[in-house]
Amino acid sequence: MLKGKTALVTGSTSGIGLGIAKALAHQGASIVLNGFGDAEGPKAEVAALGVKVGYHGADMSKPAEIEAMMKYAAESFGRVDILVNNAGIQHVARIEDFPPERWDAIIAINLSSAFHATRLALPAMKKANWGRIINIASVHGLVASAEKSAYVAAKHGIVGLTKVTALENATTGITCNAICPGWVLTPLVQKQVDARAKAMGVSNEEAKKQLLAEKEPSLQFTTPEELGELAVFFCSDAAKNVRGVAWNMDGGWAAQ
Ligand code: NAD
Repeated sequence: MLKGKTALVTGSTSGIGLGIAKALAHQGASIVLNGFGDAEGPKAEVAALGVKVGYHGADMSKPAEIEAMMKYAAESFGRVDILVNNAGIQHVARIEDFPPERWDAIIAINLSSAFHATRLALPAMKKANWGRIINIASVHGLVASAEKSAYVAAKHGIVGLTKVTALENATTGITCNAICPGWVLTPLVQKQVDARAKAMGVSNEEAKKQLLAEKEPSLQFTTPEELGELAVFFCSDAAKNVRGVAWNMDGGWAAQ
């Protein structure tokens, strides 16, 4: 379905980003990966699906590096047809204890990076009159939790950015939508599981159960593979008039 298209997925050396990159690769899209840590393993996983794969290590908190990444993608792959703004970090603390530099980093990586990548991707998408921009928000783009001020602010912000991007391009072949996962057991969440296990003096398994029971009625983690399939739907022709939605996949979290 996506043969001949190129997808750039930020923060795709791990977790949800890698899951989405693989789902798009399954559909035949060429993939540009981005993120920290080992890039060779994720590159090999995507290449094994028989598509062209590239990597750029831009730090998404730095607009100049985002520009370099978009330039690399355009030069090596022709154009970015599908942009998945996924890179994100978390920090958990009450507002009065929240380190200002963590606030700035979360706003830069979880929100501003999507603005920069989007503004740089749009001109070529407009020329082709086709594009898909998918912002990985969170259920925290729809509702809040205590001790996550920066994350909740950034995720509500990215839902707003999604709507504006959709509206500004509503008469074109470019759509923009957000995905709002509940708990997904990635390294980002494993850190929160570990912290809970330590604080409550319980096992890792018990901490996972508690985390789910508190917020997610299905008592199940969503998987990167499931989120990948939703991204594939947004890229399909059937979704060409799905514009500006914030679609939760959260086991009923936001329905409460
Ligand atoms: P993860 O920690 O597994 O992956 C994060 C990715 O972002 C990694 O590839 C990492 O290298 C990259 N990254 C971090 N900082 C970066 C930077 N400055 N520049 C470039 N890349 C950077 O986390 P994940 O759970 O897969 O999260 C991915 C996205 O999904 C995030 O936006 C997160 O907020 C969102 N999300 C996650 C969950 C969850 O439960 N895991 C739920 C809702 C939303």
